[in-house]
Amino acid sequence: MKTKDFQGLIEQLSELSAVQREALVAALSSKGSANEVITLIEARFAAAPCCGHCRSERIGTWGHASGLRRYKCKACGRTFNALTGTPLAQLHRREAWLDYARALVDRVSLRKAAARCGIDLTTSFRWRHRFLEAQKDAKPEKVEGIVEADETFFLWSVKGSRKLVGRAPRKRGSKAKKPGLSDEYAPVLIIRDRHGQTTDAVMPDLQGATIKAVLRPVVARDALLVSDGAKVYGSFAREAGIEHVAVVASQGKHVVEGVYHIQNVNAYVSRLKGWMRPFNGVATKNLPTYLGWRRMIEREADRLTPRRSIVRALG
Ligand SMILES: [Zn+2]
Repeated sequence: MKTKDFQGLIEQLSELSAVQREALVAALSSKGSANEVITLIEARFAAAPCCGHCRSERIGTWGHASGLRRYKCKACGRTFNALTGTPLAQLHRREAWLDYARALVDRVSLRKAAARCGIDLTTSFRWRHRFLEAQKDAKPEKVEGIVEADETFFLWSVKGSRKLVGRAPRKRGSKAKKPGLSDEYAPVLIIRDRHGQTTDAVMPDLQGATIKAVLRPVVARDALLVSDGAKVYGSFAREAGIEHVAVVASQGKHVVEGVYHIQNVNAYVSRLKGWMRPFNGVATKNLPTYLGWRRMIEREADRLTPRRSIVRALG
């Protein structure tokens, strides 16, 4: 930490509430993996203490249980701890969480993550999804300025599902029989602005109404949308009253007026696909988890440490 930042930190200490002060003392004196995790959890809770059931801020302390401080809510009368209402509630083996978060940061396989943490494969799978649960909805409220949108496709996969409905079993991760768009692919709309803010949606189909419903809430009213030549984007822009530039690659154009192109969103898609490849095809129902995971990696970049992964997992 820079000297200036450290001075700022010291100056802010007088503003700590009693709960925050205690969490800070615990953080500074913590030793060992389980303690470290508990400290992280308590510190995050101390930042905005409220009931894990009803969100009321009228709470009182209520002893300790399984290593965590317990609270009682004066609004709903129920007791809770800092994990209540988070995706990590009820997960055991807290001493292995930091190692698991490290495995996520390193993006190792479920099997390797299990071996590192001394857990079985089923638990490894459950932890991956719990640790990433909060990322599914961690999307920017608005994308602004020059906004690039494009669709991409993931092979439809029912991996892990017991019953195959209306679809022949296929070797996981293998190529679809028909190239290009078909019902063997799940379409995903990726929307990215020039500040790097990215959002996406797995769509049931490629109907105009479906694409517009994804764009409408998220594209800022004063944005400028750049897309390929597909008609739906122009139609959306007209209805929403925003500017639109279509880059029609088939006409040999890739950049319009020096700045309007969809190369940022295309580069994002190519990073996403390259990163997904080692997973060997993920079940389509789990795609939002993996899309969220990728968004987190892009957003956090070098700041994504195991500790931060745990804090992000708490939602
Ligand atoms: Zn409550």
